[in-house]
Amino acid sequence: MSATAAERIATLRHTLNEYNYQYYVLDAPTVPDAEYDRLMQQLRQLESEHPELISADSPSQRVGGEPIAAFQQVKHVIPMLSLENAFTEQDLHDFVEDIRERLGFVDDLEFSCEPKLDGVAVSLIYEHGELVTGATRGDGQTGEDITHNIKTINAIPLRLRGEQLPALLEVRGEVYFPKADFNRFNEKALASGEKIFANPRNAAAGSLRQLDPRLTAKRKLAFYAYSLGRCEGVELAGKHSERLQQLKQWGLPICPEVKTATGEDGLLAYYRQIGEKRNDLPYDIDGVVYKVNRIDRQEELGFVSRAPRWALAHKYPAQEAMTVLEGVEFQV
Ligand code: NAD
Repeated sequence: MSATAAERIATLRHTLNEYNYQYYVLDAPTVPDAEYDRLMQQLRQLESEHPELISADSPSQRVGGEPIAAFQQVKHVIPMLSLENAFTEQDLHDFVEDIRERLGFVDDLEFSCEPKLDGVAVSLIYEHGELVTGATRGDGQTGEDITHNIKTINAIPLRLRGEQLPALLEVRGEVYFPKADFNRFNEKALASGEKIFANPRNAAAGSLRQLDPRLTAKRKLAFYAYSLGRCEGVELAGKHSERLQQLKQWGLPICPEVKTATGEDGLLAYYRQIGEKRNDLPYDIDGVVYKVNRIDRQEELGFVSRAPRWALAHKYPAQEAMTVLEGVEFQV
C-alpha cells in the first residue's frame, strides 16, 4: 500500500463529502455533476486498486445525504438505493456481459429502458388506496417526511383509482420541475427581485423541503413513478414494465418515453434515440436507466452495497456548466 494512495483517497473522500452536503442537504451544489462524477470515478478506481482501504463510510459506499432535522424521519422498510453509472459504451458492454454471465448466458435478456429524470427521488405510501406518507430518499435507509408538500403536487393522486386496490402500496418515483414551469418561475422571481434557482433539480429539491406547503404549491412540480417498493394484498405481474402499467391503471403517471429493449444493441439504440430528443423533452434528464425486466431475474442478480446489479444509469456527456449570473442571487 502506498502512502500516496491513502492520502489521495482521504482527500477525495473529504472533497466528495463536502459536495454531497452542498448537493443533498443544502440543495446548492458548487460544482457541476460531471466534476463530481469524475472525482467519484477516481475514488472508486483507487479503492478497487487498494481494497484494504475501503471503509463503510466512504462516499463510494453510501447513498445520498443525511435527512435534515427540520422534518420527521421516515424509515424505508426496503432501502432506497442509488444506481451504478456507465459513461462509455464499454461500461454498458461490461454491465450486460456481467448479467449474462451471472444468469447463465440467457439470450432473451429484456430490459425496461427509461429516461433518467433529474429531479428528486421520493417514496409514496398508499394504504387502501389513500396517500398517507410521502418521503425523500435521504441516506437510503431514512428519509424526510414531506407528506404536506407531496400533497400539493397535482400529478400525484391522493387516492388511487380502481376497484382492486392493494392494502399497502409503496410507489417510488421522481418529483421534477418541468423546464417551462421552472423558467417561468425564475423569470417571475427575477422580475420581482427575488432569488432564483440554479437549475430545475435544485429547485425541485428545495421546493420539497419547504416547511410551508403553500410555497411548494406555487411551484408547479410534477411526478413520474418508476418503481414499486412494498405491495400487499394484490398479485403483481412478473415484469417491471407490466408493473409500471399496473401503476398507471391505479392513476400514477408513468413517463411516456419508457420502452422495452433486448440485448446491448437495443439498449444503445434507446440511448441514442433519447439523446437526440433530450433538448426537446419537457424535463431535464442526465441519462437513461436500464433495468432487467423480469423480476425473478432481478431477484437472482441481487444488489451490491449501494445499487442493484440489475440496473444501470447510462449518462450523457455533461451539458451543464455551473453558470453564475453576475449580480443574481440564487436560492436553495
Ligand atoms: P443517481 O442520481 O446517479 O441515480 C439514482 C437516482 O436516479 C434515483 O435515486 C432516482 O432519483 C433517479 N432516477 C431518475 N430516473 C429514474 C428511473 N427511471 N429509475 C430509477 N431511478 C431513477 O444517483 P444519486 O446517488 O442520487 O446521485 C449521484 C449523482 O448526483 C452523481 O452522479 C452526480 O451526478 C450528482 N451529484 C452531484 C453533486 C455535485 O456536487 N454536483 C453532489 C452529489 C451528487
